[in-house]
Amino acid sequence: MKIGLYVHIPFCHSKCYYCDFLSFPNKGQEEIYVDALVKEIQHYGLKVRGLHTIGSLFIGGGTPTVLPPFLLDCVLEAIRLNFDIEEDAEWTVESNPGTILEEHVESFKKNGVNRVSLGLQAVQNHQLKQIGRIHIFEDWKRSIMLLRNHGMTNINTDIMFALPNQTMEEWQDTVETMIAYELPHISAYSLIIEEGTVFGKKYEEGTLKTIDEETDRQMYTFVKERLKEAGYTQYEISNWAKDGLNCRHNELYWECGFYLGLGLGAHGYMDEIRYHNTVVFNDYLTAKGQPDKLVTERETITPKIAMEEYMFLGLRMLKGISIGEFYKKFGVSIFEIYREPIEKWMKEGILIHNKDRLFLSEQGIDLSNQVFVSFLLD
Ligand code: SF4
Repeated sequence: MKIGLYVHIPFCHSKCYYCDFLSFPNKGQEEIYVDALVKEIQHYGLKVRGLHTIGSLFIGGGTPTVLPPFLLDCVLEAIRLNFDIEEDAEWTVESNPGTILEEHVESFKKNGVNRVSLGLQAVQNHQLKQIGRIHIFEDWKRSIMLLRNHGMTNINTDIMFALPNQTMEEWQDTVETMIAYELPHISAYSLIIEEGTVFGKKYEEGTLKTIDEETDRQMYTFVKERLKEAGYTQYEISNWAKDGLNCRHNELYWECGFYLGLGLGAHGYMDEIRYHNTVVFNDYLTAKGQPDKLVTERETITPKIAMEEYMFLGLRMLKGISIGEFYKKFGVSIFEIYREPIEKWMKEGILIHNKDRLFLSEQGIDLSNQVFVSFLLD
């Protein structure tokens, strides 16, 4: 069976003010981390080789490219040597402007990495500063140039709207810049204030000036319409691609496919079990790659949970979900399980039924959270 592979690198130069991902500044621990990670890679390689091939890979974080090139190369090479990777596999490395070196890119090419996802967020340096990013816009330009000069053209850039004090003009400028650079893939997210982050604390104190909901929606509408005009296809609530260059690894998540998750705090989903690795750094190191010691939680995905996930992950995609596939997967008609919410949302023009597919309408995309909740089963 074809599965996905996610590998987590938890280091960043410093913490962005909105970030609640499992990441922290490195304090000279990269080498011991990579040592433990390679052991975990070898362990899983032995376990799945011959049974599964890898169709998509994602090295995320954190910022994988804060690892010195020789260490990131160790990780990439261990993956390449220990798994059966499909010839046409999509292999993404996440990165941030100003952290990619020529040697990183050479290692990408040597090992088969063919996609890079860059976090930019905004093109105004004062905006980048006020959200705690370490880079300036010019660093992003340099990273793009470096990648393209080495023939790496499948590049995503993440941008963010509803930043504190962000004006509509600034957001438009960010979107227009992405279009001008002819990126094949753009992810645009609305800022979410998470508890425990610098912004979360400021919000609680009442010192963070957030954007009102109406402006947030206007910003979303702008990016949606403008990217469509510019020839991008929106294939998920927050993702746009040209020439069919959708992120296949994310599509695997939204289609509830199986994947291995390796590294600190990573989670995987295999054989109806979702598992979570420890988030405690020292525990990760002492487990030395042995899943029995690394995995702190195993959850059996019952048919009920699987149906719920199939609905709310699948409906994130603009193509929606397949009615036939639902029947094949669960042995029951989708209408038997979800008649009520499906009829309600269809009547309101939120959900569209066309042949084998159910998908959100334009209006439905704006109300997606309400729709998703309605597919939770008692
Ligand atoms: S670079 Fe990404 S992972 Fe690192 S702190 Fe910033 S948002 Fe979080």
